[in-house]
Amino acid sequence: MSINKIGVIGAGQMGTGIAQVCALAGIDVALNDISQERIAAGISVIESSLAKQVDRQLIDKAAKEAALARIRPALDYEAMRDCDMVIEAASENEEVKRKIFSKLCAALPPHVMLASNTSSISITRLASVTNRPERFIGIHFMNPVPRMQLVEVIRGIVTENETFETAKELIVRLGKTYTVSEDFPAFIVNRILLPMINEAIYTLYEGVGSVDAIDTAMRLGANHPMGPLQLADFIGLDTVLLVMQVLHEGLADSKYRPCPLLVKYVEAGWLGRKTQRGFYDYRSGAPIPTR
Ligand code: NAD
Repeated sequence: MSINKIGVIGAGQMGTGIAQVCALAGIDVALNDISQERIAAGISVIESSLAKQVDRQLIDKAAKEAALARIRPALDYEAMRDCDMVIEAASENEEVKRKIFSKLCAALPPHVMLASNTSSISITRLASVTNRPERFIGIHFMNPVPRMQLVEVIRGIVTENETFETAKELIVRLGKTYTVSEDFPAFIVNRILLPMINEAIYTLYEGVGSVDAIDTAMRLGANHPMGPLQLADFIGLDTVLLVMQVLHEGLADSKYRPCPLLVKYVEAGWLGRKTQRGFYDYRSGAPIPTR
């Protein structure tokens, strides 16, 4: 089945990126969030991201305008009735996602495929709240979506072949590469990456090194393009915590326990770049370590 129109739920970091790459690939997009203001903020993020791509000569102005024209705000799910697929990229909270999918199913015709961009939550479990688990799949984009090459595809137990094939075709059409992961907590990339980030936070918590020492050590000593704490701020500390909780509960192994310092930062509302403060303070422009 070919995809001509996609619904995107959640106009945050990931939803805006997904909307942007789909629109650039010629697919119409209906973008939803909890309020008109959030959708408008998301569309302006997409506009400036496309402008940067024009500056870097990755796309021309006409492509930018055409992509923007393909993205329409969708205040409710009725506006997604003519979509071929709806990708959910709302906050990493199972209750929130369950509610979205239950409401979506009531609004959408039965042939519309559903996908979640969840970083960690079971695709089979999310599919079970819908009336179309065979047309439900995990399509896990990486952040920032326009720049990252990989997309993980996760089949739930009930996902049928046509859905799997359509998801893979979509990813190729977006110019990206997929890997297939089985439906276990946090899939492949985050199963490996997030415990490393959590360990970096433990290293900070136990006073082994400062924020700067830990990030410099991993950049120059392990050749990582970003330090783990810088990366945590980039992902969002709330998302990092939720993924660690899913690993901890889902695999019942104490090696995945979230670091108490991570919990404290999230409780303080220091969620990283999106709130201007996390392991670094971004309020004055150049990031300043907070420890
Ligand atoms: P974010 O906080 O930037 O954005 C989430 C958006 O969802 C917000 O705009 C919020 O208003 C909206 N939202 C919340 N409840 C909603 C609802 N009921 N209906 C519509 N919109 C709703 O988060 P994000 O980083 O974009 O993450 C979104 C999803 O993508 C999560 O599942 C996350 O795990 C996953 N993900 C994140 C990353 C990352 O690096 N941040 C990478 C891959 C996947």
